[in-house]
Amino acid sequence: MPKGSCLCGAIRYETPFALEAIDHCHCSMCRRSHGSAFATYGRVPSESLTFTTGRDQLREYQSSDVATRSFCGRCGSSLLYRHSEAPQFDFITVGTLDDDPGSRPRAHIFVGSKAAWYPIDDDLPQHEQYSPSTSD
Ligand SMILES: [Zn+2]
Ligand SMILES: [Zn+2]
Repeated sequence: MPKGSCLCGAIRYETPFALEAIDHCHCSMCRRSHGSAFATYGRVPSESLTFTTGRDQLREYQSSDVATRSFCGRCGSSLLYRHSEAPQFDFITVGTLDDDPGSRPRAHIFVGSKAAWYPIDDDLPQHEQYSPSTSD
């Protein structure tokens, strides 16, 4: 069962589902939100997360008409992303998992807006926007 936590440990979560469809997202909003070249998210069925501690510390920011990002109000760790056009999924930040997610990234997405200073040098597929099967 995947488990994860924020940097300060106030928020801990778990889900009975393995993370699927892990993508590295290079969009400008993920880059700013994470302060890094890209953000890595994997999806689980919506509302499958259980917050074992710190649910009250979770803050939300609506970053666009369709996207809501959740983070720890104490340490700022990015934890969760929800997209109104894919309400069947919660997207978890793979970097907050305690252990190996058991699967590997499948693609780079939104490479059309990737950081100029970061060269993608692996062989994963690259998509201008979402992976073609994002809403499977
Ligand atoms: Zn925290
Ligand atoms: Zn993104």
